[in-house]
Amino acid sequence: MTRALIIGGGIAGPVAAMALQKAGLDPVVYEAYPDGVDDAGAFMTIMDNGFDALQAIDAAGPVLAAAFPADRAVFWSGSGKRLGEAPIGGGAAGAHTIKRAELCRVLREEAGRRRIRIEHGKRLGDVDLEHGVAAVFDDGTRQEGDLLIGADGVHSATRVLIDPAAPEPRYVGTVVLCGYARHAPVEPVPGVYRMIYGRRVFFAYTTAPDGGTWWFVNVPGTALSKAELSTTSTAEWQRKATLLLQGDRSPAAAIVEASEDIRASNGYDIASTPKWHDGRMIVIGDAAHAAAPNAGHGASMAMEDAVVLAKCLRDLPDTAAAFQAYEAQRRERVERLVATSARMGGTATPGPVQRIIRDLAISRRLRNGPRNTAAWLIGHHIDWDG
Ligand SMILES: Cc1cc2nc3c(=O)[nH]c(=O)nc-3n(C[C@H](O)[C@H](O)[C@H](O)COP(=O)(O)OP(=O)(O)OC[C@H]3O[C@@H](n4cnc5c(N)ncnc54)[C@H](O)[C@@H]3O)c2cc1C
Repeated sequence: MTRALIIGGGIAGPVAAMALQKAGLDPVVYEAYPDGVDDAGAFMTIMDNGFDALQAIDAAGPVLAAAFPADRAVFWSGSGKRLGEAPIGGGAAGAHTIKRAELCRVLREEAGRRRIRIEHGKRLGDVDLEHGVAAVFDDGTRQEGDLLIGADGVHSATRVLIDPAAPEPRYVGTVVLCGYARHAPVEPVPGVYRMIYGRRVFFAYTTAPDGGTWWFVNVPGTALSKAELSTTSTAEWQRKATLLLQGDRSPAAAIVEASEDIRASNGYDIASTPKWHDGRMIVIGDAAHAAAPNAGHGASMAMEDAVVLAKCLRDLPDTAAAFQAYEAQRRERVERLVATSARMGGTATPGPVQRIIRDLAISRRLRNGPRNTAAWLIGHHIDWDG
């Protein structure tokens, strides 16, 4: 049986493991961090296409059970004007919100239930390609396999082992703050994201099933170091974020002030990684094509990648041919997402006239609905038996 070494136990990794097992391969996952130590903080929305990919490997149920629906987005201007609304999902499952750490936990548990081995505390440092492929870990151990799948995220070691000249991730100019308030002074909006195009920054919030408010804001500025990301206190983020939200006619500043926990992440993307595979190694998910978080689709794309790759390896026993077929199916789509998400960003603070033009354009676009502008994204279907 083909032994697949999967590097990274985030999102693409466990999904790839389950898909490869279904395809008849023998996967093992190696995750750098000890069990239970996820970079907790960000929450995310899994879209219909992500659930479609999970459905292909019978793994949508546990994720749906741990997440809550995100049916529609209502848009507001910073001056308090309602600009319109649009559906978020559209398919059978519909979009759902979940914390990244919770999603990783659920996926790993489901993989474990299927008797897939996940080894924690195994950080890939090198590979040995003398016979087949061997993963060499920072703890000095090594594991041999027939192929190695790098699902090791935006700062992927596998990407660099495949191509030492691979482009570095680009910092997109914004730090994303995700915050949680148990008792924010707002009406609950279950199933709804309120999106506020403020004077200086974009802010969004929704209501979790326990009545708490989950929110995010894109803060323009320089990238933060690992130390700054982990040591900046919630009080400090509250101070910075409320300054940016001052003057908006919205509940954003009050929500931030009521928050007990705020976490920050730098936004990165990789427009194009020229070389996804080499011999017995390949990268998938953010390791190959990280998108800025604006479009909210990186995780769903990582799930699609994992299932499509497994299908290619099932149908084409020659690894090189399978990797080529995978790339032919995936490259255009994922690079289109990265470009789309980059366009949705923007770090410059709009002036008063730009704000009026922007708000009018948003209203007009929403009035021309209710079509879902991201149909090409969420309508993707994987026919596992096809
Ligand atoms: C603030 C924020 C909000 C986001 N919101 C959304 C959203 O709403 N919807 C959405 O779809 N996406 C969203 N994303 C993007 C999403 O998080 C990523 O696209 C997704 O996590 C990619 O999955 P992955 O498995 O490829 O990588 P990751 O989730 O990064 O997982 C990589 C794993 O590999 C491990 N690893 C790294 N290096 C090594 C190594 N050398 N050896 C072994 N293991 C290693 C890491 O510890 C990690 O567990 C958001 C991202 C951010 C930052």
